Amino acid sequence: MEESTTENPPKTFTCRLCGFSTAFTYYGQKPPNTRAIVLLEECFVTRDPFSPDKEKFLVLGSTCSLCKTCVCVGSDCSLFYTKRFCMQCVGKHLDQFPHQIQAELAKKSPKAAAL
Ligand SMILES: [Zn+2]
Ligand SMILES: [Zn+2]
Repeated sequence: MEESTTENPPKTFTCRLCGFSTAFTYYGQKPPNTRAIVLLEECFVTRDPFSPDKEKFLVLGSTCSLCKTCVCVGSDCSLFYTKRFCMQCVGKHLDQFPHQIQAELAKKSPKAAAL
């Protein structure tokens, strides 16, 4: 670990549902040093550690638009449907999502339907 970096100290993103935790470099809709990328939502992003390309980044997660819980983008933890929803809120408001989404969830994650 070198101390010569001029970047902000790493902050930690933790998914409140699955416990996934890792450092993130940026939170927002437009990651710095990327070519005109604007994300659909405010996300926790980190530079892709496996890519030498500095413009490559990974979206780790986001905050639920309803309960503001930090959740990762894993399909077991959150769903993006015009906004980010954590699976707990999806479970609570499942009847307000379109049938297509409900069917997808029932197929993919029986857990969510049972919440
Ligand atoms: Zn998660
Ligand atoms: Zn939520």
